[in-house]
Amino acid sequence: MSEKPVEIKLPANLFQNKTAIITGASRGVGRATALRLAEAGANVVVNYLKSETEANEVVKNCESLGVEAIAVQGNVSEWQAAQVIAQKTIEKFQKIDLLVLNAGIWEGAPIEEMSEETWNKVLNTNLKAAWAMTKACVPSIKKQQRGAIVLVSSTAGQRGEANFSNYAASKGGQISFTKALASELCPKIRVNAVAPGWIETAMVRPVFEDENYKQQVLDSIPLNRMAMTDDVALSICFLLSDWSRHITGEILNINGGSVLCG
Ligand code: NDP
Repeated sequence: MSEKPVEIKLPANLFQNKTAIITGASRGVGRATALRLAEAGANVVVNYLKSETEANEVVKNCESLGVEAIAVQGNVSEWQAAQVIAQKTIEKFQKIDLLVLNAGIWEGAPIEEMSEETWNKVLNTNLKAAWAMTKACVPSIKKQQRGAIVLVSSTAGQRGEANFSNYAASKGGQISFTKALASELCPKIRVNAVAPGWIETAMVRPVFEDENYKQQVLDSIPLNRMAMTDDVALSICFLLSDWSRHITGEILNINGGSVLCG
């Protein structure tokens, strides 16, 4: 892509003395979010599943912005791994203030062909992980004056997605989970979600090898562009920061106008 991220820098004290965990931060939206959080002063935990080299690179990039960072491997869909990620964060930084539930996979099939394995893998990675990571981190976040959680959902969770019923169910589930926890964890912890449309990342790049399909997608987006990872990262930072201190239970659309639901 020839586009550049927004050039405005976030204030260096926006997340000063805060500790943030970002799940799935070795690449894509998670990586961009880790970098913006570091730019704004947060110490950062870069969770990943397999991409150790990339995760270590993100850690180095965060450190070069003047904060501390660690990479923590862990499958967020497993309760035990979620507990280890929270424990390692507390060992290193003594606390957790901010949690970004970003790790996700996009694998589907027509319903008659969808295996139990594909159904479970997607639901576990996208939805069960939100439960596991939140449960593991909330005791520490509660001890802080205030904290914030942001889930990365999707337009698929709002309008559905043919041949990806498992993914759509997991993303719709994240939206309901966000709303439930917003009222459960108030007033100290705010819980919000972003619902992006197409973002140019490794997750969806293979489908855009078909230039005709790519053009069809662009034509369906009123702003006539796909989101960059940084566009999503900036919205996540907004929802984590005091800029949104009176916002909880919100689902923020980041889709160039393609799905207009409020
Ligand atoms: P990428 O495929 O680029 O990155 C996914 C990240 O999640 C990687 O860091 C990966 O780690 C990590 N991950 C996957 N499974 C697990 C797991 N079980 N435990 C821990 N980490 C895991 O994805 P995107 O950046 O595109 O997507 C980020 C989020 O945005 C997802 O929730 C996705 O559903 C959502 N989204 C994406 C859209 C898009 O068009 N791209 C549109 C709307 C929403 P590793 O590299 O180690 O495998």
